[in-house]
Amino acid sequence: TTDDVKGCFRRNAFVILTVLAVIVGIILGFGLRPYKMSYREVKYFSFPGELLMRMLQMLVLPLLVSSLITGMAALDSRASGKMGVRAVVYYTTTTIIAVFIGIVMVLIIHPGKGSKDEFTKQEKIEQVSPADAFLDLIRNMFPPNLVQACTQQFKTQYGKRVVTVKVLVNETLFSLNNGSQELKREEVIPVLGTVNGINALGLVVFSMCFGFIIGNMKEQGQPLRDFFDCLNEAIMRLVAIIMWYAPLGIMFLIAGKIVEMDDISEMGGQLGMYTITVIIGLLIHAVIVLPSLYFIVTRKNPFVFIAGLLQALVTALGTSSSSATLPITFKCLEENNHVDKRVTRFVLPVGATINMDGTALYEALAAIFIAQVNDMDLNFGEILTISITATAASIGAAGIPQAGLVTMMIVLTSVGLPTDDITLIIAVDWFLDRLRTTTNVLGDSIGAGIVEHLSRHELHELKPIESRFHRVFG
Ligand code: ASP
Repeated sequence: TTDDVKGCFRRNAFVILTVLAVIVGIILGFGLRPYKMSYREVKYFSFPGELLMRMLQMLVLPLLVSSLITGMAALDSRASGKMGVRAVVYYTTTTIIAVFIGIVMVLIIHPGKGSKDEFTKQEKIEQVSPADAFLDLIRNMFPPNLVQACTQQFKTQYGKRVVTVKVLVNETLFSLNNGSQELKREEVIPVLGTVNGINALGLVVFSMCFGFIIGNMKEQGQPLRDFFDCLNEAIMRLVAIIMWYAPLGIMFLIAGKIVEMDDISEMGGQLGMYTITVIIGLLIHAVIVLPSLYFIVTRKNPFVFIAGLLQALVTALGTSSSSATLPITFKCLEENNHVDKRVTRFVLPVGATINMDGTALYEALAAIFIAQVNDMDLNFGEILTISITATAASIGAAGIPQAGLVTMMIVLTSVGLPTDDITLIIAVDWFLDRLRTTTNVLGDSIGAGIVEHLSRHELHELKPIESRFHRVFG
């Protein structure tokens, strides 16, 4: 029918536009590099990309809250409990595998070899207990002020400045120290779980509990369930509009970044090896491990599933933010891959907030690289500590650009590695960040597919979301 043809064209149009956006963005970026634009000119040039970032981020707060609340309310406690356990098992397993790959790769390739000339070595610093990091993580799950949880500020736009990050040992809060200029005390902000002004972790916990309660409130809860259903539906319609703008924004995000990036040929041998090691690790996880897991569990072709995610993956690459990508991830999973809305609404917001395979892999790998550069031998216990804290740091890292670089402080300090050495890897972090963000989004999406498959019996017994929605509004 004509509707089928239209639908088919629309899906393919997105794929074509998205691929074009990346190709044109890269060509444009490299084409404009010789003109050596000023910082201001680059900012003007990448303005359409900045707008995309802002539009997507704008939707994150209402989308996260409304989807989690409706998702939880649409499940009975048995189904949500089972689904929750499956999601957590999946998140834990994949994160552990990712950390393991990171560690094995960095130990085998050993990119930090021959450190003598390239970097100045640092002394070991005082160790911070990983327990503090965990306590901070849990603290952020319970924001004392919900309104504030929606407006916390945290700047991650380091631009091209050299930034060192310091840990305040007692409070395990992080302060960004811009060059030699110390930030004022009031500017010290908790970083764990904070997404672009939103304490996502806190809101996730609150929304899940809230959705669970109103789901169990029978008739009395109906107005709230309808309200959040409707809110969620409205936000998703906004997302549908932004989807059409996304390719243009992505093109400028990519081109702008290529224009302003440092000359790659200046990159030292160790840093180059380090970059390659991270890329190989991420590729193994994204192209081999995750698809295999999907195939083993569902017996379906993982690459067909991944093809449906193309726009989300490219958006992750363009924005380096898994939370800004969340709206697009929803659309791809629900519309292209037909994943049940009750699963995506429940699993995706949680996944985007706590499940970051790419970040975990990278944090463990980078920490060991820094040890190698400083000629510090790590024993088995220290490597184990790194893997545990890398997991915590990836859970705590916000889905915003380069958050992983900041939470890596926990990993470094847990084994007494010099935190100032973060500066060694800053030059390539913007690039690795994009790749690990894409891996993060892929991990969340495959997780949704796997949880849906495992939960098909429970889902079958429950009323689908649409029918309830239409009963109320149709
Ligand atoms: N940018 C990553 C993300 O949004 C987090 C990180 O810095 O590793 O998923």
